[in-house]
Amino acid sequence: MIAPDLRSGVDQLGDMIAHAKVIVPFTGAGISTESGIPDFRSPGGLWTRNRPIPFEEFVARQDARDEAWRRRFAMQSTFAAARPSRGHRALAALYKAGKIPAVVTQNIDNLHQDSGFAPHDVIELHGNTTYARCIGCGKRHELDWVRQWFERTGNAPHCTACDEPVKTATVSFGQAMPPDEMRRATELAQECDLFLAIGSSLVVWPAAGFPMLAKESGARLVIINNEPTDQDEIADLVIRADIGETLGPFVGN
Ligand code: NAD
Repeated sequence: MIAPDLRSGVDQLGDMIAHAKVIVPFTGAGISTESGIPDFRSPGGLWTRNRPIPFEEFVARQDARDEAWRRRFAMQSTFAAARPSRGHRALAALYKAGKIPAVVTQNIDNLHQDSGFAPHDVIELHGNTTYARCIGCGKRHELDWVRQWFERTGNAPHCTACDEPVKTATVSFGQAMPPDEMRRATELAQECDLFLAIGSSLVVWPAAGFPMLAKESGARLVIINNEPTDQDEIADLVIRADIGETLGPFVGN
């Protein structure tokens, strides 16, 4: 059911939150646009400017790796300046109140952690762009180290431990999904009684399967997004409005 207006959507959401025992939020890029990070598919979004570099290309070609890191550093001032939005803060308040055990996110921006979630309770399906990992041995590398290498050599770095390429700790197209995160997200979707899909176009799979799984497992499903999604018709409530406006009333003090 689509809420007829923002006010009644917020009221219904408030009732559902009050009656729920276990709430699992599932977030996409839309929760971070208020923080100044563009999403992928909106006009002006990242994909309207850059075609994504698939994992296979990153592995195969030095110029693809150089381009990936050039793009990442071009975004650094945006990521560094971003602060949690009203959406992030509302979820953090519900987490603190014990209503939310963990958040499942497609985002890579670290803003759920910054809003007060313990790192262990942020299930990052697509990784994290605020640090890097070797694609061979998995060793963690900090972005400052990558930048120094890049500035010194003009090229993307290789791991100091095993000499394989170093990539942001994100999951690229063509790269395997992280098994532990997939398992935990599956369990949370199956065990919650209220599932909130927030700011996702729900077109990136397998992540987009979680709202459906939660619904099939008996949870009520709410979709908060300013444009339609393919799963609106199975949702118990669709709030087609701005996320900050919708979740602002739940931020608390
Ligand atoms: P998406 O760009 O496909 O969809 C975002 C959705 O949010 C769109 O439907 C858009 O209309 C909506 N939206 C944007 N701002 C909104 C607002 N203020 N209020 C309500 N709705 C709003 O993003 P996705 O579904 O997360 O999938 C794309 C992939 O992009 C993800 O895998 C993620 O890893 C990656 N990504 C992450 C970030 C980030 O970490 N902040 C940013 C861009 C892309």
